Amino acid sequence: MQRLWSPWRSAYLDSGGPDSKEIGCVFCYLRDHADDDEQNYVLHRGSHNFVVLNLYPYISGHLLVVPYDHVSELDGASKDTTDEMMDLAKRAQTALRSAYSPEGYNLGVNLGKAAGAGIADHLHIHVMPRWGGDTNFMTSVAETRVLPEDLATTYQKLRARF
Ligand SMILES: [Zn+2]
Repeated sequence: MQRLWSPWRSAYLDSGGPDSKEIGCVFCYLRDHADDDEQNYVLHRGSHNFVVLNLYPYISGHLLVVPYDHVSELDGASKDTTDEMMDLAKRAQTALRSAYSPEGYNLGVNLGKAAGAGIADHLHIHVMPRWGGDTNFMTSVAETRVLPEDLATTYQKLRARF
């Protein structure tokens, strides 16, 4: 059921390779391939944004809320878009609480490479669950983590809650 290779994962891994040139922006690719939502771990589609699992999560349950519009700046997105982004961040918190009962959450937006954005050209909000024993956000960014749960399992748990 889970494919070993999918184009946008490959683009993530090798952002300069031929695959990524074919695909262009990873988030625009996900927007345009709704038929592959399960394969691509897209959890939910709203009117202006979608919610997807981060493929390289800092922690299990690390979600991204992504506008359909390819905009890089928060103040470059429409009010309808940012209003729904926040609504979906709230739904993400509700889903994460139901699935994982975390002790806290991080919500974050990195605007620009200098601010740590992995995909700087296309706005997105990170939402992730936190526990008292895990490391803080800044240290977890720099680490390779061993995840307690694979993405397909996380996807099934959270999809049912959106
Ligand atoms: Zn894009």
